[in-house]
Amino acid sequence: MKNIMDYTLDKLEDKLININEKKFRARQIFNWLYINKIYDFDKMNNLSKETIKTLKDNFKNDFIKIEKKQEGKDTFKYLFKLIDDSHIETVLMKHNYGNSICISSQVGCNMGCSFCESGKLKKLRNLEVYEMVQQVLLIEEDLDIRINSIVIMGIGEPFDNYDNVMDFIKIVNSDHGLKIGARHITVSTCGLIPGIKKFSDENLQVNLALSLHAPNDTLRSTIMKINNAYKINDLLDAVKEYIKKTNRRVTIEYVMLRDINDKDEHALELAKILKGLNVYVNLIPFNEVENNIYKKSSKERVLRFLDVLKKHKINVTIRREFGGEVDAACGQLRGRVK
Ligand code: SF4
Repeated sequence: MKNIMDYTLDKLEDKLININEKKFRARQIFNWLYINKIYDFDKMNNLSKETIKTLKDNFKNDFIKIEKKQEGKDTFKYLFKLIDDSHIETVLMKHNYGNSICISSQVGCNMGCSFCESGKLKKLRNLEVYEMVQQVLLIEEDLDIRINSIVIMGIGEPFDNYDNVMDFIKIVNSDHGLKIGARHITVSTCGLIPGIKKFSDENLQVNLALSLHAPNDTLRSTIMKINNAYKINDLLDAVKEYIKKTNRRVTIEYVMLRDINDKDEHALELAKILKGLNVYVNLIPFNEVENNIYKKSSKERVLRFLDVLKKHKINVTIRREFGGEVDAACGQLRGRVK
C-alpha cells in the first residue's frame, strides 16, 4: 500500500476511480493535505465516513520524522529518520529573496564523486515520492515558513530516481498542491545523459543544473566516476539539445577544489567548452569536512577564476556562503549534521 502523498493529482484521480470513489475527491484530498495541512483522514470533514474508511483501507499516511536539526545563521540542516530507520538530510537556506530548500532524492548515492561525503554511503534505495514531499512539509511546519524554491541537490542523483522525482515535482508545483512555481524548482544532475534527454521532453519549466566540476575528461574522471560512462563532449551535446528543446538556460555547477580544478588554465578550458552555450556557471566554495582529502580554494583563487570566465564572456556567479556553513553542494551535508 502506498502513502497518500505518493500520488500526483492525476494518479490520485485514477486510483480513486479504481476503488469506486469519485474523481473530484482527489482535489478535495489535495486541498486538505497541501493547502490546509490536515493529514488525518478523520479530520477531512467534507468526506463521508465511507470515503474516509476507503482512504484508510487503501492509503498509508505515515510521516518521516525530524531526528536532528542544526541551526546556523541563515541555514538549517535537518536529519530525517525514515520509516525503515534510514536517514536523509535536507537543508533550508534563508535568502533575502525567500526560503530555499535542498532536498535529498535517495538514501545514499552510487555516483561516487570523490569529494562527496554522501557518495561514500552507497545507495540503499530511492526515496518514495512522499518522502520528498514531506521534507518540504515538515520544514515549513517546523520553522513556520513558506518555502519559495526547491533544489533537488541533496543526497542522491535525481535522474537515478527519475519517475519519483518527476511526481514529486508535479505535486509541489501543482495549483492544488504546494504551488511552488516550476521556475523556482531546480533539478541537479551529475550528468546522466539518458535522464537529461528524458527531462528535455517533459515540457516543464523546471531548471536544470549540471554538476560539471572539471573542464576536461582526464580531470573529471578522477573526481567524478560518472565521467567514465558519459564524457564531457556527449554531456554538453545533451545540454545543447536540452537548451534547443526547452529554450531554458542551464546552470553549470563547479565546486572549487584547491589545486585540483581551480587554476587559470582550468578556467580558460571551461570558458572554451562553454562558449556560445546558454549557460551560467555557479562557482561553489567547497565545504571542507574532516578526513576529506580535498580542500577549499582560497578566496583569491575563486575570484581570479571568476575573473577569467568573465573576461571570456561566460555568465558566472559565486554561490553565497552561509556564515561559515556552506550552502552545501550536492551531497556534502551528511558529515556535518551528525
Ligand atoms: S555529489 Fe551528488 S551525485 Fe555525486 S556522489 Fe555526491 S550525492 Fe551523489
